[in-house]
Amino acid sequence: MTRWADLHMHTYYSDGTSSPEEVVREAASCGLSCVAITDHDTFEGVEPTCTCAFEHQLEVLNGIELSSEIDGRDVHILGYCFNSQDGQLLETIEHAQRHRVERMKKMIERLKTLGINNVEFEEVAALAKSNSVGRPHLALILQRKGWVKDTAEAFQKYIGEQAPAYIAKYKQTPFEAIGLIRSAGGVAVLAHPMVTNKDELIPAMAEAGLQGIEVFYPNYPSVTRDYYQKLARKYDLILTGGSDAHGKAKDSTFIGKVKIPYEMVEQLKTRAHSPQSR
Ligand code: AMP
Ligand code: ZN
Ligand code: FE
Ligand code: FE
Repeated sequence: MTRWADLHMHTYYSDGTSSPEEVVREAASCGLSCVAITDHDTFEGVEPTCTCAFEHQLEVLNGIELSSEIDGRDVHILGYCFNSQDGQLLETIEHAQRHRVERMKKMIERLKTLGINNVEFEEVAALAKSNSVGRPHLALILQRKGWVKDTAEAFQKYIGEQAPAYIAKYKQTPFEAIGLIRSAGGVAVLAHPMVTNKDELIPAMAEAGLQGIEVFYPNYPSVTRDYYQKLARKYDLILTGGSDAHGKAKDSTFIGKVKIPYEMVEQLKTRAHSPQSR
């Protein structure tokens, strides 16, 4: 019997809305054998999910989605099976989270100058169970307070990259993010390559230690999958995939929307703890 995995999802430890219990219930009910929790800049959700998963015989992989930037573009690097005690990784994540907190306070100040004077940092931060607070949380508060009709409008009018209250967040380059995952013994994977749209960087990222591409992602047409599979073969990268579920925060996807065969998880595991020079 084929076993299935979904290797990309968010919890309420970052900008998803699901608790570890909800993640496990949904994953079990759609027949998954393995999930990876990949919250933005935090892995605090992994351990509680492992605890809940135990009785469902669901395997939970250590995961994270690191933000990085190059040439003004957001590049997301997924990390799997890393050592959670790694000092450099912990330090970098802590730095990123501190920066997220400061940035959120500044964005709220900007909103005040635009006349939005009833948003408090504490209520925005309360939506994330870690310090990985981000724009989706702020968008939700703006909607709840009636400043916008939905979160899309919040991005469009206030906090999107071209909007007046936008402030860039702490960014490392994708090469640094890849190096960080690798030096913590993890497997570094390029998330949603079509969203990122920086294919020309794939050779250099492979050179820097990238080990996989997220070829299976919601709504990727088969030509796109074929194209990235070819690229993966060319640069000796493994294939991964996941739903990028965010619970109620993203209604276009859900846990199990993308399922990959468990053999791909086995291949991923063989790449963990490999020496950094390829
Ligand atoms: P942050 O990490 O705080 O900059 O927030 C980035 C997240 O905001 C992304 O991962 C998306 O989930 C969400 N996001 C970014 N731009 C938009 C947009 N225009 N509309 C809706 N959500 C967005
Ligand atoms: Zn997100
Ligand atoms: Fe992402
Ligand atoms: Fe994601």
